[in-house]
Parts: sequence; C-alpha cells; structure tokens
Amino acid sequence: MSRIVFLNGSFLPIEEAKVPFMDRGFLFGDGIYEGIAVLGGHLVDNEAHLERLERSLREVRIPNPYTREEWTQLEEELARRNGLTEGFIYFQVTRGVAERDFMFPENTTPTVAMFTQAKSIVNSPAAETGIAVITVPDLRWKRRDIKSINLLAQVLAKQAAKEAGAQEAWMVEDGFVTEGGSSSGFIVTKEGRIVARPLSNAILPGITRQSLLALSKEAGIELEERPFTVEEACDAAEAFLTSASNFVLPIVSIDGRPIGNGKPGPVTKKLRAIYIRMATAQRMAAE
Ligand code: PMP
Repeated sequence: MSRIVFLNGSFLPIEEAKVPFMDRGFLFGDGIYEGIAVLGGHLVDNEAHLERLERSLREVRIPNPYTREEWTQLEEELARRNGLTEGFIYFQVTRGVAERDFMFPENTTPTVAMFTQAKSIVNSPAAETGIAVITVPDLRWKRRDIKSINLLAQVLAKQAAKEAGAQEAWMVEDGFVTEGGSSSGFIVTKEGRIVARPLSNAILPGITRQSLLALSKEAGIELEERPFTVEEACDAAEAFLTSASNFVLPIVSIDGRPIGNGKPGPVTKKLRAIYIRMATAQRMAAE
C-alpha cells in the first residue's frame, strides 16, 4: 500500500504531493505544526491538540483553514487510509505561497500538509530501559509557547544528544531546565513529588504534560510547579519526559550522571501506566 498524505484538500500518494518553491514554510519557517498520537486507530487528546493549534495560528496571524470537526475528519481519514493503528499524525499549516518578502502576503491561502508515521508507543523498549539525556544551552526565540515549525535549535540540540549517545537534549536557560528538544521535562523529588516548570512563553504547553498533571493529581501525587536546575535534576529521585509521540518515558541519566539508581523509577512507571490507561479509555469511548 502506498503511503498517503494530505495536501491542500487532497489525499495523495506521497510521491505526488508537491509544495511550491515559494512556500513561506520553506523560505521563512513561517508556519505552525501539531503532532498527535494514534492508539488503537483513535486520536489521543485530539481536542486539546486542536485547541493548541488554534492558539498558535492566532498568535502568528495565520488563518485557521478548518474547524475542529473538519480537522478531526481529516486526521481520522488519513489514519484510515494508511491503516494506522498506533503511531503519530503530523500536520502543519504555513502562511502559503508568495514571492519572497517578509511582510504577510495578501490573499494567500495557507498550505496544509499532513502525514502519518507508524510507531509502537505502548510497547516501547525505551520505556523499559529508560533513556539518557544531555543538557545544552536553550538557543530558541522568546515565544516557545507557539508551536512554530522553526525547529533549528531543536535539530541542533537533538543531534548533539545523538552524537553523545543520548536520546534527548534538555535545554537550559539561566541555569534552569526549560524543556526537552521535543518533550516536556519533569523530575520527582525524594519525597515523591513531581516538579514541573510552570507554563510561560519559555516552554511549549505540552498536551501530554497537561493530561499527565491532571491524572497525577487524581492519583494523589503532589505537584510542585516551579523551575528546576540541572543540579537538582541530577540529585532527584527520578526524571522523566512526556510527549505525544512517547507518552511518558523514564530518564535514567543526565550528562552521563545516573538518576536515582540509574533505572526507571516507581513514580514514573506508575505515571506511564496511568497515562496509557487514560489513552486506552479514550479509544474505547470512541468505539
Ligand atoms: N516541548 C517541545 C519543545 C516539543 O516539541 C514537544 C512535542 N512537540 C513537547 C514539549 C511535548 O508536547 P506534546 O505533549 O503536546 O507532544
């Protein structure tokens, strides 16, 4: 079966999906994206992702081409056409195609592109072993709350992680961890409390973060919403990350220093199980 993508109103084999040379996403990184997990053929936390998309588009003044219902239909149809039962749906909206000039072009239609990636999220070897992270300076702009397709700082951060034998980079500003290259970062104190950096323009409001913090509250796990330093993270009982493409993943070392006993910790394992239960329940409710 050929891979089908969605581009500007059509479902096409990927080989036929072409974006014009003068697309502002290509020239300026002038666009917004989203990434949503699919589990059992159903979208996880779709409403919250679409709400974040609406907000990001509004902040950069790109008109939203679809209603929430239309977006959902497109996502579901693309998953269906690709036989996607578990994995990821990526989509982006750019300001469109126009002669290169910085100011917004007039009467330009946004470019919409969407594709799927199959991936085992629940049965993940990384969840069993935990992952290593390194720390890097946070080189990004000041509106990280907007899910912009400008990802050069994250590309460099994650490549540095790979070259150091790690799987994620934690970005650091003024001594405090902001977030991972493509994930939200957390630690667990020796008293068993979760520490999460509060939302601001310094980080992306992670949808998995939002769901997980609500679930952890229900489970009676205490939360301290405050920034934490690399030193505190290295001394923490546990560390973990969240993202739509990984749910919850244990972090077992930072810059080569083991966290806790260097194995995935009990609070992280519990949170991962709680999150998977919630995502599975969403799927059953949709069926
Ligand atoms: N922070 C950054 C910088 C990210 O790129 C991502 C994933 N796109 C996240 C956090 C996690 O967000 P979510 O849980 O919505 O996938």
